[in-house]
Amino acid sequence: MTDVHTREQRSRNMAAIRSVNTRPEVRVRSALHALGFRFRLHRKDLPGRPDIVLPKHRTVIFVHGCFWHCHRCKYGSVVPATRAAFWAAKRAGNVARDRRNAAALRRLGWRVLVLWECEVRTQEGALARLRKFQIGGPS
Ligand SMILES: [Zn+2]
Repeated sequence: MTDVHTREQRSRNMAAIRSVNTRPEVRVRSALHALGFRFRLHRKDLPGRPDIVLPKHRTVIFVHGCFWHCHRCKYGSVVPATRAAFWAAKRAGNVARDRRNAAALRRLGWRVLVLWECEVRTQEGALARLRKFQIGGPS
């Protein structure tokens, strides 16, 4: 079967797909299922459009890519070889926006859980982080 897309189109499509259904996020969702939680996705009416929302527990979850959101880990401290200043500014903007969104959500009475990509590389990792946070437990 021939590829109907040009290479450029294809990489655009791939980028669009990745930004919504990233694999770490899928892993977190299945861990939540395993723990018996019900949730909704990408609620546009909340600050920062959280990746996962647990309305019953007034909890939102963001699954952040380490590079894009400057995690203090080896993946988050990568400096791109080209256009370093451009990426640095873009990532700093993400971090500032993350902070504003989390503050706004807390003011609205939500608990905010940030899961880093490097923490949820495995299903076990995702489960451990979710248990530690104690969704619906003492805050
Ligand atoms: Zn990380």
